[in-house]
Amino acid sequence: MESDDCSVKVAVHIRPLIGDERLQGCKDCVTVVSGKPQVQIGSHSFTFDHVYGSTGSPSTEMYQECAAPLVDGLFQGYNATVLAYGQTGSGKTYTMGTGCGDNSSQTGIVPQVMNALFTKIETLKDHIEFQIHVSFIEIHKEEVQDLLDPSTINKSDTKVAHVPGKPPIQIRESSNGVITLAGSTEVSVSTLKEMAACLDQGSVSRATGSTNMNNQSSRSHAIFTISVEQMRKINNNTDSPENGSLKEEYLCAKLHLVDLAGSERAKRTGSDGMRFKEGVHINKGLLALGNVISALGDEKKRKDGAHVPYRDSKLTRLLQDSLGGNSRTVMIACISPADINAEETLNTLKYANRARNIRNKPVVNRDPVSSEMLKMRQQLEYLQAELSLRNGGSSCAELQVLKERIASLETANEDLCRELHEYRSRCGGVEEPTDKDFKDIQAVDEIVGSVRPDGLKRSLHSIESSNYPMVEATTGDSREVDEEAKEWEHKLLQNSMDKELHELNRRLEEKESEMKLFDDPAALKQHFGKKIAEVEDEKRSVQEERNRLLAEIENLASSDGQAQKLQDVHAQNLKSLEAQIQDLKKKQESQVQLLKQKQKSDDAAKRLQDEIQSIKAQKVQLQHRMKQEAEQFRKKKMHSQVLQRKTEEAAMATKRLKELLEARKSSPREHSGGTNGFATNGQTNEKSLQRWLDHELEVMVNVHEVRHEYEKQSHVRAALAEELAVLRQVDEFAVKGLSPPRGKNGFARASSLSPNARTARISSLENMLEISSNSLVAMASQLSEAEERERAFTSRGRWNQLRSMGEAKNLLQYMFNSLAETRCQLWEKDVEIKEMKDQFKEIVGLLRQSELRRKEAEKELKLREQAHATSLASSPLGTPPNSVKHLAEDLSTPSPMTVPAQKQLKLTPGIANGKVKDSAAFINTNKKV
Ligand code: ADP
Ligand code: MG
Repeated sequence: MESDDCSVKVAVHIRPLIGDERLQGCKDCVTVVSGKPQVQIGSHSFTFDHVYGSTGSPSTEMYQECAAPLVDGLFQGYNATVLAYGQTGSGKTYTMGTGCGDNSSQTGIVPQVMNALFTKIETLKDHIEFQIHVSFIEIHKEEVQDLLDPSTINKSDTKVAHVPGKPPIQIRESSNGVITLAGSTEVSVSTLKEMAACLDQGSVSRATGSTNMNNQSSRSHAIFTISVEQMRKINNNTDSPENGSLKEEYLCAKLHLVDLAGSERAKRTGSDGMRFKEGVHINKGLLALGNVISALGDEKKRKDGAHVPYRDSKLTRLLQDSLGGNSRTVMIACISPADINAEETLNTLKYANRARNIRNKPVVNRDPVSSEMLKMRQQLEYLQAELSLRNGGSSCAELQVLKERIASLETANEDLCRELHEYRSRCGGVEEPTDKDFKDIQAVDEIVGSVRPDGLKRSLHSIESSNYPMVEATTGDSREVDEEAKEWEHKLLQNSMDKELHELNRRLEEKESEMKLFDDPAALKQHFGKKIAEVEDEKRSVQEERNRLLAEIENLASSDGQAQKLQDVHAQNLKSLEAQIQDLKKKQESQVQLLKQKQKSDDAAKRLQDEIQSIKAQKVQLQHRMKQEAEQFRKKKMHSQVLQRKTEEAAMATKRLKELLEARKSSPREHSGGTNGFATNGQTNEKSLQRWLDHELEVMVNVHEVRHEYEKQSHVRAALAEELAVLRQVDEFAVKGLSPPRGKNGFARASSLSPNARTARISSLENMLEISSNSLVAMASQLSEAEERERAFTSRGRWNQLRSMGEAKNLLQYMFNSLAETRCQLWEKDVEIKEMKDQFKEIVGLLRQSELRRKEAEKELKLREQAHATSLASSPLGTPPNSVKHLAEDLSTPSPMTVPAQKQLKLTPGIANGKVKDSAAFINTNKKV
């Protein structure tokens, strides 16, 4: 019964996407096969004992299925361990429920374990005596820190984790193989409340022990240990009363609840050496744990009795029993479903999958004395039974011997009993330090790291990528269609705007021709005024003549008959004059009428003028909008092009890496176990070793490249996601009929889009994010594969295939040569870069100058235009439209200032030359503009 089903149980806990991941537009890339404890990510599939969260079993069942059996086992004397493994932020602390001030304290494993423990104790306490102790430690940078140390708890605000004078905590192994921590605080607790207080205290001092909680907690392992000792009184009626006190059973068991450090790889690209160093320390625990797991999990290694490197780190020493030893163990692999974490998630799942193969050997932990006593008691009973069987037939002497034996056994029993009591009185006392201290020997394989040619290749790569040809890449069908649709939509928009512009132009023309009718209103006025004055004059002269004639008539009236005749003539004249006056009066009236009409038409002309003005303003606005729209379209197109290019580059790099990894898999060198399969000829062997080395290096560079692409891709993706979020928000506002918040970055731009354009953009963004997500997962898959391979080469594994000093020396020589060559190339590239930078600076200077000149010219042009306009107004005839053109021509001829500046450029052949030429041409065109 003690060894049934003792392999390490592994559960996966998938947390939901959290805020930050949503913001970055991450997609859920982990699927759970329904009804099975199986998870899939990309093309990988893993089966575990349980899967919780994100449509696996509900997380609430985790305690009952994973931890409750362990708590029950504690009461039977079985050790147990719960390990939470996963990258930082994957939910380890949440799963364990050890976060301080976290609301996970109800659903977390640890609080539920404590609850169950005390509930059970409550039911058993009448016939069993319990002693419970807890300890809470943290391993940070390979140092064990006591989280329950009263001297630090009382002044938890001090950041001193280690009190001077207090001996550091040491890991000891007693003669019977039990690992103990010497110097750590073991708090005796008797109620749930007391235990919960310990957990809280420890969590708090874990948080305040470092300036940055997340920093430290992600780099340290926290182990909360509950030890349960029980004294069981065995009530056996057949026993004599004096033996009653002996019928006791002592059981002890420990439960380790472990919140491991974040499993993420220390970033090789990390700029600060400090972090890297810390990462190395952290990795020491997890690396050793990984090695222990693969040593125990690998069927072959286990059969060969391979060395299990428990002693490589403090963590693995402390958990020695938990993995492959005397413990029932559950590992909970916590993962994030976000595609951005796909690589770490894959690593975690692979790691956890290996752990499933570990077989443990749990046994009931009895006190050594009490178990001895139990054995003796059984022997005694057996003998007594034998005695009673033989009672009649056996000889007296035999009986005597047996009786003596019984007596001696009984005295031994009593001795042991006494001893037991002594032990018990010393119960909880210190265990003898039995083990010598040991020193961890750190491997020095990092030395090799300093000669890695990564840096060189990286800079090479960056040079290449800066000159990367912007190929009009072959696109997939869907993308093409998408592209076309966008192009079409853009054209449609432009067309409609064009139409609008056209209409405006037409109206403008109409109005202007109408306006021509009323052209030169001043002249018209003058003309009419003159006419009126003329008529007035004529009228006046006619009137004067009339008056004169009247006076003449009066003079003549008194004279003779001839005068009578004259008078008649005069009267006739007068009549005709009167008629003339009448006529003139009429004419004058009609003139006034005309004047009035003219006034009216003047008003109309003014209105038209205003209208024209407003139409012109509209036209300018529309043109402006068209320009903006075009600009935005260009930008969007660029955005998608960047993504497309990134995705293509990423796909290429991923494919190459895949090929390389597969080539390595199938290469005979990989089977380092196989002996001299191809070492027939020294020459060929040397060549193949060199080829192998080149291949290894290529893989390294390729991994670097893919990682680089991965990071770039995630950046581009984040930008797209941000745009999408803004657009969605604007869309929401629009649906509610509100205007989006002003002044917020991106909102103005987003809300200037038409609703149709917005929806189109949203769906295209969603599409792009999907593509990006797939690409990320594909990359993560290869990266994780590479990581897996790399793991096999930890320490000196890489060089296992070198079989002789000669081979090693040859390869070393080859390596040295290639390193020297690469360094020389690096130097050359550095020089080249420096030169190019100088040229770049010059070009930028030139560009600035020409820009300045352009601005000046523009200013001048404007001034001249103004002057021209005023002169045009003052002299209506002189309209020399050539003057502006002359000015423009003046500007386009190269000035004496820029020519020598261009000559200054040091033209070097190759890329630089082309670039310089291009830039110069650019400047020229700029000037022409
Ligand atoms: P870790 O300890 O692995 O670094 P945490 O436990 O601190 O990660 O979890 C990171 C964040 O994710 C926390 O904000 C936590 O509340 C949240 N989280 C983790 N697991 C879950 C879950 N199952 N459901 C909801 N939120 C979770
Ligand atoms: Mg944590």
